[in-house]
Amino acid sequence: MRRLRYGTFLKYWNRKWTLVLKFRSQSEFAQCDICQELKSQYQNRNLCMGDRLQALKLYRTHLVSQYADRCSFWSLKDVAADQLSRILVLATDGADQAKYAIPRSPGLVHAHRAQKLVRPRLKLHAVWSFAHALRICVLDETTFHGSSMVIQALAMTIEDSMRIAGSRGAKPDTLAVIGDNTVKELKNGFCLRYLLSLILHKRLKCLRCI
Ligand SMILES: [Zn+2]
Repeated sequence: MRRLRYGTFLKYWNRKWTLVLKFRSQSEFAQCDICQELKSQYQNRNLCMGDRLQALKLYRTHLVSQYADRCSFWSLKDVAADQLSRILVLATDGADQAKYAIPRSPGLVHAHRAQKLVRPRLKLHAVWSFAHALRICVLDETTFHGSSMVIQALAMTIEDSMRIAGSRGAKPDTLAVIGDNTVKELKNGFCLRYLLSLILHKRLKCLRCI
């Protein structure tokens, strides 16, 4: 198979897709605490060369481990698509509420009269069950969106996925859950107890949280 040259990709991207799909600028992504700390250390001219090199080494190790994390995520996606693997892979995340204040139309948002309005914010949380289902929950700003909301979204997605997988052949017996470090919503005792209860009630044999 011939590989597409990067120049060709850019040519077609600029001709057609750049008007439809927009890349977010780098400044719109939050930087993780470890990256920020190590970068400020190796850029600090007041530190000695040895300390700066050590910070750079740690930064590169951190980037390699982040990439390894992404690789395991991508391979789990592939594994989930194989019915015989019997592994259910769920990824869950929520969007920043500030991005979902309504109205969202750029014309209205920038209108002078609209700037005086209090724009209600929506909470958006999604659970993606690879190869099976995508559940997107949209909640009012006032709805409590702690771990109970995440557990409900996970439970409903697991139920849907089990039904879909059952209709296609074998039901999964292993669950992998991928999520970020939000202690309020996901990485806490409530969610972990819920996931462990799936094993206690013999709905699953094995659990892996990433
Ligand atoms: Zn980082």
